Amino acid sequence: MAAVLILLGPPGAGKGTQARMLEEDFGLIQLSTGDMLRAAVASGSAAGTQARAVMAAGGLVSDEIVLAILAERMAQPDVANGIILDGFPRTSAQAAALDVLLADAGLRVTAAISLEVDDAAMVARVSGRYTCACGEGYHDEFKRPTAAGVCDKCGGTDFKRRADDNAETVGERLKAYHAQTAPLIAYYEGKGVLERIDAMGEIAAIRKGLGAIVAGVSA
Ligand code: AMP
Repeated sequence: MAAVLILLGPPGAGKGTQARMLEEDFGLIQLSTGDMLRAAVASGSAAGTQARAVMAAGGLVSDEIVLAILAERMAQPDVANGIILDGFPRTSAQAAALDVLLADAGLRVTAAISLEVDDAAMVARVSGRYTCACGEGYHDEFKRPTAAGVCDKCGGTDFKRRADDNAETVGERLKAYHAQTAPLIAYYEGKGVLERIDAMGEIAAIRKGLGAIVAGVSA
């Protein structure tokens, strides 16, 4: 059965970075509701217009909007290769809805992996990050391109910073994480599918640790 992996963790834990690496290493598909919502905002759709202010303030977009956007994406055929959910579910209602969506497709959560980090370090991590137009992520301190200003992956020079990656909004996003998302750790523990990984170290070491977990649960 296709693997369904969930990456849990606060903003800055490395969910997006590691999800892209798991895509490369295991041929899985990264599904980031944050990316989908940013695309909706950029397109000016009705859902995007509603989500925009909430995202800028660091709050959570309504379950209704997020579930609609995710269900649409999950209907695409490529998800049959197995998925890594990055930034979803973020509330108990989303977790329950995901169980139903998966059951309808004859699937279930293979593993929910909690990226365990130190909250105090998250503001610095998030504040320094930026992304190439090709999707490759960088950081002012922890992951600079080999040649300044040139993407290692595609050679491009078009980098962007997210509007919500500032110290003030990150504080709100951390609060939302602890109030609404952290309880999902116990939810998945209760289902017997929780895995934990120390995500404070080097990106490459965490990639290796996560790879071992994914290989173990997919076997
Ligand atoms: P992310 O890229 O995962 O950090 O998400 C960026 C922002 O999009 C969050 O701060 C939320 O405002 C919104 N968002 C992303 N995923 C969800 C979700 N599953 N539920 C509610 N809001 C979300």
